[in-house]
Amino acid sequence: MRLSKLLGLMLIAGSILTASPGKIKFEDHFTNVTMRIDYHHIWDGSKELISLDRIYKEGEWAGSRNVLLDPFKYGKYSIKLYTEDGKKLLFSKGFDSYFGEYITTDDASKGIKRSYHETALMPYPVSKSLFKIEKISPNENSITLFSKVIDPGSVNIIIGKPEKNIEVIKVHGDGKPGVCLDIAIVAEGYTDSEEDKVKKDLNKVKDIFFSQEPYSSLKHKINIYGIFKPSDENGTDEPRIGSFKNTSVDTTFNSMGSPRYLLTESNKKLRDITSAAPCDAVLIMVNSSRYGGGGIYNSFCTFTIDNEQAAYLILHEFGHSFSGLADEYYSSSVAYNEFYPRGTEPVEPNITALLKPGKIKWSDHVSDGTKLPTDWNKNEFDRMNAKFGKTRKKLNLKIEELTRSGAPEKEIKKAKRAIELLMLRKEKENSNFFGKTGKLGVVGAFEGAGYSSEGLYRPMQDCIMFTIGKKPYCKVCEQAVEKMIRKYID
Ligand SMILES: [Zn+2]
Repeated sequence: MRLSKLLGLMLIAGSILTASPGKIKFEDHFTNVTMRIDYHHIWDGSKELISLDRIYKEGEWAGSRNVLLDPFKYGKYSIKLYTEDGKKLLFSKGFDSYFGEYITTDDASKGIKRSYHETALMPYPVSKSLFKIEKISPNENSITLFSKVIDPGSVNIIIGKPEKNIEVIKVHGDGKPGVCLDIAIVAEGYTDSEEDKVKKDLNKVKDIFFSQEPYSSLKHKINIYGIFKPSDENGTDEPRIGSFKNTSVDTTFNSMGSPRYLLTESNKKLRDITSAAPCDAVLIMVNSSRYGGGGIYNSFCTFTIDNEQAAYLILHEFGHSFSGLADEYYSSSVAYNEFYPRGTEPVEPNITALLKPGKIKWSDHVSDGTKLPTDWNKNEFDRMNAKFGKTRKKLNLKIEELTRSGAPEKEIKKAKRAIELLMLRKEKENSNFFGKTGKLGVVGAFEGAGYSSEGLYRPMQDCIMFTIGKKPYCKVCEQAVEKMIRKYID
């Protein structure tokens, strides 16, 4: 343990001393094509390993040609591309992954071995380059998990061709991919005969995006593509009721053991499909009415399109996957152990451990005289929320029971509707509560965030990253999203 840490320190010390910053001219180092590196991220019971799968040369490079080095430093991991001698950093991008969530679970700490497929995307280099995957530690130096010189002329690099049965649907925008944010929405769980529904649902997503800031002000710089590969069956996997469907990218509820967590572990299928369109960000639109979603920074997000809360799901989950925003909620049960270790400042822009109240990271937004932490009648909110949580759990169990026992469809529908109505009532109850605290519009430090009731703080009393419903991002989240969009368009 100590030796590997020391080696990690030596490696990073080496790269800090030798890497020289300065403006990187895209044309000097890259062509306008995408390099895709697929690999397996492995937990061997005690440490992380990376094993290379395949390298592809794919379509046009959709990302920025100006901002090649990651200005944000969010995410637990980072991909980096250097000149062959390792002296000059040419490209970097932070990210999180399914694997990164797995290793925080009890199963991982018990030593249960797992591997997950992942993909790194970057512009295609013109000459031999050193590729690295690093693990970022908040209070320590990063550790290099993988490092390999890649020869762009190698005959082993696969020239990728999009699959034949994929339809790319232009939903919005016709700007050049290199100076626009290119959003790819994968239609998941739609059969051959549902093409009209795919198009209708894609337009619904577009309208939801452009009814929210900062997306609406920047819509002239955003391209949206739909990607439709018909699924054999309609819907998605719901393991808790024994329902499994054969779909394009294998999404499933109950990810990481959490009923509403909807993800896919079939990364290769997903990347084979998304390579058909220019793509800076991936959303998976799941053809289901059940409430659920998930979002992993710079990987992908999911949402169900036919749920009453679709707008909330899209904007909230995309907040995670595109802008690296943290969950501001804290009372729902999630399968993480110490997701944010005590005493460390989270890297996400919208939550803080408030270790130095005088230097809060969103100080620009805090008015003079605002108390930090900021009182917001938390006890009353917690009481309301506990009651809601209990009722929701009961209703969910009832739906599962009815479905498993083969109850009439009408009865199941009634129970599903009851849960949707409960959520709508909760949304109203919350907005009444926030209206009475006297803290509307105040930016401060509100205790309760990042799955922790104490010790972590969020910027405003409410935000779409905090409670359910169609509502704006708080001021800090909105600015974080805008900064991220600008990375792709400036
Ligand atoms: Zn927020």
